Amino acid sequence: MGKITLRNVTKKFGDVAVIPALNLDIENGEFVVFVGPSGCGKSTLLRLIAGLEDTTDGSILIDGADATDTPPAKRGLAMVFQSYALYPHMSVRKNISFPLKMAGVDPAEATRKVDNAAKVLNLTSYLDRKPGQLSGGQRQRVAIGRAIVREPKAFLFDEPLSNLDAALRVNMRLEITELHQTLKTTMIYVTHDQVEAMTMADKIVVLNAGRIEQVGSPLTLYRNPANVFVAGFIGSPK
Ligand code: ADP
Ligand code: MG
Repeated sequence: MGKITLRNVTKKFGDVAVIPALNLDIENGEFVVFVGPSGCGKSTLLRLIAGLEDTTDGSILIDGADATDTPPAKRGLAMVFQSYALYPHMSVRKNISFPLKMAGVDPAEATRKVDNAAKVLNLTSYLDRKPGQLSGGQRQRVAIGRAIVREPKAFLFDEPLSNLDAALRVNMRLEITELHQTLKTTMIYVTHDQVEAMTMADKIVVLNAGRIEQVGSPLTLYRNPANVFVAGFIGSPK
């Protein structure tokens, strides 16, 4: 559960191939980071995996089954949006249980799942608050909680920390890494931040203009960059 395979995945906007025939294997339980400069296609690739964009060509397999034409809600993946996507008028509990309510999950079962997620995320004493009464880090954890209760095959993160201040980013990096160690679920994490990539990933995918420059562990990329682009990108702080 949680293996994702991209075969010749192509995305065109008009005549422009933003992603030209990309191949990638993501193994079950891996923490994979897509890193690359702004505009290189990271979000588009994540949205293709989530099903929020249609592929122009190629196929996407989830656990070996073709999911290219499967609607987003049926893929069993959870996209974690930035914390500002929370509903301000709902309590933390209601925000986290919202996807379960939409899916028609029994209320007692939903309560149990929200309580479990809150425990994992240290949100138990905040369940009755509104998002406006939380810190930035707590709000981000609520956004993650909303994904956890769905028990997805994989979590998809698109620059989830980009609107947090520097100190909080470091904390949340650690929290997400610990969450991965606890849940052992596949995570795909998009960032333009080399430090996030190097500190969080099992496997880094370096993207440049929609193409993969290199795939490897942080150590491999650091020691044996495939080319000048990877060496420059991983080597130089932003
Ligand atoms: P990143 O997330 O790496 O910054 P994106 O995936 O958002 O990059 O964008 C990759 C390229 O695709 C950019 O050139 C962007 O302008 C273009 N693009 C993204 N979405 C659309 C769209 N809906 N229509 C047209 N062009 C798009
Ligand atoms: Mg993006």
